[in-house]
Amino acid sequence: MSVEHYTQLRALLDPVPQLTEARRVLCIQPHPDDTDIALGATIALLAAQGTIITYLSVTDDAAGLTNADAELPYEARVRLRSSEQREAASILGVAEVRELGFADAGDWSVRELRNCLVDAIRTDEPDFVLSCDPWLPYEAHADHVRTGLAVAEAAILYQFPNTATAHYRAEYRLNAVGFFFTDKPNQFVDAAAYRELKLEAISAHKSQFTSEQINALDAVDHERGQRLAETTGAVWVEGVKCLRPEWLHVLPEAQWL
Ligand SMILES: [Zn+2]
Repeated sequence: MSVEHYTQLRALLDPVPQLTEARRVLCIQPHPDDTDIALGATIALLAAQGTIITYLSVTDDAAGLTNADAELPYEARVRLRSSEQREAASILGVAEVRELGFADAGDWSVRELRNCLVDAIRTDEPDFVLSCDPWLPYEAHADHVRTGLAVAEAAILYQFPNTATAHYRAEYRLNAVGFFFTDKPNQFVDAAAYRELKLEAISAHKSQFTSEQINALDAVDHERGQRLAETTGAVWVEGVKCLRPEWLHVLPEAQWL
C-alpha cells in the first residue's frame, strides 16, 4: 500500500484511539506472564498515570512448567502460577487479577472462550482491551491464536444484546483493541523508564524461567524495542497494534492501519 493510498484511507476513518490515553484497560492473556513479557513497561507506565488495569488469564498455565515445579500436583501448579502472576502484577501496579481457568493447551473452543469474554468486557467496561495478535506469522501456540481470535470477536459481539451472555448495557462502548506480540505495531509506547520494573515482574514468574532464560528474553526485548523506536525519536519502545472494534470485520485494510 502506497503512502498516498494509506493517507486517503486514514482520512475516511476515525482516529485510532491512543493506548496511553486509556482510562481502563482489560488485558486478556492466554497465560499468566504474557502481558508482562509483551508490554510490562507499558502496563507500569499506564498504572503510574492512573489507568485502572485488570489482568484476565484465560488458561491455568498448568502445562507450562519445566523445572522441578512440573512434578507438583495439578492444583498446586495452578496455585503457583496464579500467585506468581499476582506478584508480578503488583510490581507493575495492576489493580486486579482474575482467571478463567481454561486448561493450558487444552481442548476448548474459540466460541466457548468468546462467550466468557463478551461477559468479561460487559462486566469490566474497559475503554481498551489488550491481547495477543492471533494473526502473528509463525505463532504455533494454539492458546495464543484462540485467545486473540476470541478477544477480537468478543470486541465486536459484546454490543449486540442478543449475544449469548448477560450484563448488556447499551450506553457502554469499547474504544479499541490493542494486540501485543504483533508484527504490525501502529503505536509505540515510550516506556523505557519502566524497563527495570518490567524485568522485575517477569522475574516473579520463577517457575517459568531460569536466570539465563530471563537474560535471553531481556536481550531480545531490548533489541526489539530499540529497533521499533528508530522512527519515533525515543530510545526504546513497546509496540502495539491498535484497532477500533468495528475495523475487525470485513476491512482488508486493517492490516495496514
Ligand atoms: Zn502465553
